[in-house]
Amino acid sequence: MSGGQEVGSRKQEAGGEKRIGAGGGWRVGRRYTSRMSKRDGVGVRTAKKRARRAVGASANGKAAGARPPAVLPERDREAHKRWLLEITQIPTAAGREQRVAAWIRAWVAARPELVLKEDAAGNLVIEPKKRWGKSGAGAPRPIFITAHLDHPAFVVERIIGPGTVELAFRGGVMDEYFRDARVVVHVGDGGRAERAVSAILSGEGAGVASADGKERLFKTYTAELDEEVEVGVGDVGTWALPPAEVDGHGIVHTHACDDLAALAAALSAYDTLLQGMRVGAAGVGGQDVRLIFTRSEEIGFTGAIAACKLRTMPKNARVIALENSRSFADSPIGGGPIVRVGDRMSVFSPRLTAACAKRAEQIAGHAASPRATERNAVVAEGMKWQRKLMAGGACEATVFCAYGYEATCLCLPLGNYHNMADLADVQAGTYDVAAKGPPRVGREFIALGDYEGLVDLLVAIGMELPEANPVVERIEKLYEKHEFVLREGGAAKGVGGRKGAKREARRG
Ligand SMILES: [Zn+2]
Repeated sequence: MSGGQEVGSRKQEAGGEKRIGAGGGWRVGRRYTSRMSKRDGVGVRTAKKRARRAVGASANGKAAGARPPAVLPERDREAHKRWLLEITQIPTAAGREQRVAAWIRAWVAARPELVLKEDAAGNLVIEPKKRWGKSGAGAPRPIFITAHLDHPAFVVERIIGPGTVELAFRGGVMDEYFRDARVVVHVGDGGRAERAVSAILSGEGAGVASADGKERLFKTYTAELDEEVEVGVGDVGTWALPPAEVDGHGIVHTHACDDLAALAAALSAYDTLLQGMRVGAAGVGGQDVRLIFTRSEEIGFTGAIAACKLRTMPKNARVIALENSRSFADSPIGGGPIVRVGDRMSVFSPRLTAACAKRAEQIAGHAASPRATERNAVVAEGMKWQRKLMAGGACEATVFCAYGYEATCLCLPLGNYHNMADLADVQAGTYDVAAKGPPRVGREFIALGDYEGLVDLLVAIGMELPEANPVVERIEKLYEKHEFVLREGGAAKGVGGRKGAKREARRG
């Protein structure tokens, strides 16, 4: 979806930007409900009523829990898109995330209210200097929005000779994609001048073995550089790909959506909340919201596991991990951001997942999919969103849950997962090598509308995220409404009471 208006005038600076006039031109966002009414040509009250009904909160028309803020603060769509395109083209690899970290540092430095901290594993935490939200007993538990800093890529393992290096691949990509592939080595760490050198993969190496020598941790490949440039061990190598672009259908084709598009969405939402704080926007600032960006996810969640062990997040944190997940037919690109209920390994905290889904329902004005008693048009209005398992991979929410955190995931449906074009055919063995040549990598892609929807959902969550399980509350209300039926047919007393319901809702 679109609909963000320009916010004042601005000029861009490296990494972050400066707005001319603090809060100048900042306006309150439009109401989803009024847009519905305009399009339908019916009264606002009818549209609101319908929106409430679509939310399905309860029979008596009252939303379960606190009333949702009807309005999101104005979103600066142009800046969010620019950050998306910039960040997703920054070379990064597990363990070698310093360029993305530098971009984030500059972004935080341009916002005097924020501070960036680093834990002992190098994970980055962004938080306000003066904490948002109430404190003390009964205050909402902190919310941590997470994304990872790395993407499957190469790291220079060894210099073989002038113009020849050995590259280790850190991440999950099928062997078929490496044959004679073009790559780019990014020179320029440790004070050396930044420089990109093209190269071609020329053969497979012995791989990088584990400390005990029993396991191969990373595949390695020899690469011939196009020019004899001094390359250092530890330099990052990426696939050679065309620059990022948004095509005429609103699809963003870029180097590394996973997970840098999610990282950009987190920063965008945080910036929106921060701007809301500056002008005292209604509904903003009631909760303690922080960001954490983890390292080395692609080789097995290393940074996230370290964050759990280090207790980088307090034990009572509600953790919302952001991902880009391989899209399948039932989780289409352009179908909206996804409230992900689980992954290939586990299911996430039901209470927190339900709370995020409730916020999606509230800002969208409808459930993720129509009921069997509804027309499909019910979900055609407002923001699109999806509620899915996404079993194509595993994500950090599984790690956070395993270490006892309440955690869930929001994700963007992703095309060319891990840069593997034609992946389904290559996996199925139906890829026609004779006609098409060896499988080739391509830019990953997402829908810009899904990205904007994710930003909106994160803003809504940052404004308000119910602590109690909305599903339990909804079920209790259903029971209250229909319990009389159980007294029919001979049962004299019914079950009565709502013993334990509140406790259950809290426990989730
Ligand atoms: Zn990945």
